[in-house]
Amino acid sequence: MSTPYYHAIDKEIQVFEHAYTCKLPFLLKGPTGTGKSRFIAYMAHTLKSQLITISCHEETSSTDLIGRFIIKGAETIWLDGPLTTAVKEGHILYLDEIAEARPDVIVAIHSLTDHRRELFIDKLGTTIKAHKDFMLVASFNPGYQRGFKELKPSTRQRFVAISFDYPTAKIETDIVASEADIDKDVAKKLVNIATKIRNLTELGLTETVSTRLLVDAAKLIKVGLPKRLAVHVAVVEPLSDDLEIVQALKDLSDLMI
Ligand code: ADP
Repeated sequence: MSTPYYHAIDKEIQVFEHAYTCKLPFLLKGPTGTGKSRFIAYMAHTLKSQLITISCHEETSSTDLIGRFIIKGAETIWLDGPLTTAVKEGHILYLDEIAEARPDVIVAIHSLTDHRRELFIDKLGTTIKAHKDFMLVASFNPGYQRGFKELKPSTRQRFVAISFDYPTAKIETDIVASEADIDKDVAKKLVNIATKIRNLTELGLTETVSTRLLVDAAKLIKVGLPKRLAVHVAVVEPLSDDLEIVQALKDLSDLMI
């Protein structure tokens, strides 16, 4: 597999390499679409480690992670979950949006996030020591706006953490141009629209324009969708369902591209 494209924003690559040497649990904080998943894919690839990703949601339980007994014919057999596999075989386990998961997930990873580095499998009554190459990585959207799930300070303090945010206009232009293989001029216009919308805090949007949305708009433009329409459907519509806000954002972006 070729190296995933990742444009460094700050010193995150250096920090992660050192954390990987120590196998310290690592937390990627930041709004959606700011490159957290891409970053970990890139790091796993360059460190030659296998990456196992779990996208956490409100139903994600410790059983999903650790494993379960299943019935096969006349037998009941144990099936390792992805966390157990990663712990045994020494992979990077990435818990995307960890705060979404059920509280028993946090309990399950507890002993893996301190000096013990071990996993207790209650259904088997066994404890396994983590492989020397095992590393736990999680992402979390701190959500400066209301309505997001929080991560308890006692859990956060078990991780080394770095923040992801929207990159500078210059870097974001490079990312958008490179990801969608479009002209820098067009990429720059898309980034200008995003910057403008991000500054409109009075709209009270739960989440604002992410780099992901800009890349999507750029990809639609690349395959021939008219630019304004691409911005409407890939950038404006996903942001709000309020008709007035949507119209205002469409008008604003039309003036800019
Ligand atoms: P997150 O995990 O933070 O929600 P992703 O990693 O999925 O976000 O990023 C969304 C998209 O934005 C990626 O697929 C990629 O196209 C683009 N992207 C964002 N930041 C970067 C970056 N620093 N380098 C390369 N691509 C990026």
